[in-house]
Amino acid sequence: MTEKKPNFGTLSVWAGEEKKDGWQRATQVPVVHSVSFGYDDLDYWYDVALGKEKGHIYSRNTNPTVEVFEEKMRQLEGAEAATSFATGMAAISNTLYALLKPGDRVVSIKDTYGGTNEIFTHFLPRLNIEAALCPTSDHAAIETEIAKGCTVLYLETPTNPTLKVVDIARLARAGHAVGATVIVDNTFSTPINTNPLTLGADLVLHSATKYLGGHADALGGIICGSQELVHKAFAYREINGATLDPMAAYLMIRGLKTLALRIERQNQNAMQIARFLKGHPKVEDVFYPGLETHMHHEIAKKQMRGFGGMMSFFLKGDFDAVRVFLPRLKYAHIAANLGPVETVAGPPRTTSHVEVTPEQRAAMGIPESLIRYSVGIEDVEDLIADLEQALDGI
Ligand SMILES: *Cc1c(COP(=O)(O)O)cnc(C)c1O
Repeated sequence: MTEKKPNFGTLSVWAGEEKKDGWQRATQVPVVHSVSFGYDDLDYWYDVALGKEKGHIYSRNTNPTVEVFEEKMRQLEGAEAATSFATGMAAISNTLYALLKPGDRVVSIKDTYGGTNEIFTHFLPRLNIEAALCPTSDHAAIETEIAKGCTVLYLETPTNPTLKVVDIARLARAGHAVGATVIVDNTFSTPINTNPLTLGADLVLHSATKYLGGHADALGGIICGSQELVHKAFAYREINGATLDPMAAYLMIRGLKTLALRIERQNQNAMQIARFLKGHPKVEDVFYPGLETHMHHEIAKKQMRGFGGMMSFFLKGDFDAVRVFLPRLKYAHIAANLGPVETVAGPPRTTSHVEVTPEQRAAMGIPESLIRYSVGIEDVEDLIADLEQALDGI
């Protein structure tokens, strides 16, 4: 009898935590703070060092608690392998530096996360690696750049903060035609809404700080993909040292148990809030991939099981309207974060795109008065009432 693959709710809870006799029968994963692991049998230790035997030697490289987080994510993304990092940016930078060498070329989009954009525009050129950043909505232009040849095709979807959606399957085909490694930042979508590997990506990465942990209390990053590619990034990270802390890994494991539950709720809340804002006279426009009016709704429908908890919107008026509106929100932290159980709001100029200049933001189509709104798991009627009273105050 072949066993049916468990669904996401079950995987969130059980993946990596299947019943076993280890951990002295603890039902919850212990936080193993030990830096090193001792071996009286020197030959056995040597075999562990060579990877012939399973085991841990030094926690900068691998750690039992961290390993459970990696295994949970490996299963949720349906990958062969996974490895973790201290932050999402460490996952992104270490993976890029592990795969690229001077003279290589990267193709990406203009709307990547601010920190990622900074790697492309500042750090890679210093190593003589060109990053061609294409208009995010122009798939034909991206394909033209890919066809010129590239080592890495780097995508992010939906994008931060205007929620553009790029067609992973279409662009992965173009990338593979020139032998590129296709990387997708799946932070906004989470494995519950999208599995980029099933759409043709070679590597999927996350800022685990956001939805995976889900409680805004720990930083982390993860990549999932083939054993070969993941090992390259692991080999870079274990030497360069951006290792995930065991306590943070534990918080990720704990957060992940409710991932499917949280994302279902956030998908539902966000859809209702987007509809409410779209019809409000003080709101100029709403960017949410679930709205039929969204420019990439058709692509989103094709590759997302749910449209996520992230949206952004413009108020009528200038930044002064934002100055009045944001502090009036009772049920939203006004902060530079996204993805936790609480609703979080903020303008991109002080959140995702604080690293870039106003001119660069304008070039990326990010108006100074845009509001990024990360919908939490609160009761949606309360969130809508809260938005309504804050809009009334403008
Ligand atoms: C936050 C974020 C990152 C960076 O993650 P950190 O954990 O803050 O380093 C990368 N990509 C996206 C889409 C993000 O939202």
